[in-house]
Amino acid sequence: MFDLITPSFVAGAAALAAAGSCAYYATYAVRSQWLGATDWHGRRDTRAAALTFDDGPSEDTERVLDVLDRLNLRATFFMIGSHVERLPRVARMVAERGHEIGNHSYSHPIYLYRTGRETRRQLERAQAVIEGATGVRPRLARPPCGVRTPAYFAAARELGLRTVQWDVAGFDWTRRRAPEIARAVLDGARAGSIILLHDGDSEGRRDRRETAAALPHIIDGLRGRGLGVTPLSELLTDASGEAKSVADYGAA
Ligand SMILES: [Zn+2]
Repeated sequence: MFDLITPSFVAGAAALAAAGSCAYYATYAVRSQWLGATDWHGRRDTRAAALTFDDGPSEDTERVLDVLDRLNLRATFFMIGSHVERLPRVARMVAERGHEIGNHSYSHPIYLYRTGRETRRQLERAQAVIEGATGVRPRLARPPCGVRTPAYFAAARELGLRTVQWDVAGFDWTRRRAPEIARAVLDGARAGSIILLHDGDSEGRRDRRETAAALPHIIDGLRGRGLGVTPLSELLTDASGEAKSVADYGAA
């Protein structure tokens, strides 16, 4: 619970600094509640899990959308503001196809290394860019690599953003083929899981074809154990334990 201040946190920060990579932190420290309220899974009393996609939009987002359409599923896309500026048409398409949109910063910095003012600006700028392109003002946020700071929580609170991490990852930020991505998800997924995948790459280096190709396997596997896929907003509970409606979280 207090992993933000343990040696694993220090090691994670050092690994991030050395490698410029999310991998360590995103794997080990996403569930801490120490600095502020964070959802990392949804209600467990359902028969569903939620799919979330980070780091888009990208040239591969439409590929992911097509698979979701074919399977008649809705997901949540945590977008990077600068990527929305580059591909506003794709960002708009995500909203038009009925998916939820969240704030994943403007340029994907690790907030730990930014001032409070810069952190707030990142969140504000992403809100403005996303709303301008899609007509949707996000109500959900996921900080880059899952790294949260006091300044991040202060800014998120002021902007009315709820922080949502994940409890299951496809590890598609490493070089993996579709069956491996699907296996990683299915190994951990259960009722109420929030599944982390990527429809873009924060550094623009990697395509997401393998992630798109993994989706039918993931859905099949979930169905095989009696689980459907539901929008994140329907999986999250409010303070009274009630699920919010999709409209509360900025679905188009
Ligand atoms: Zn990211």
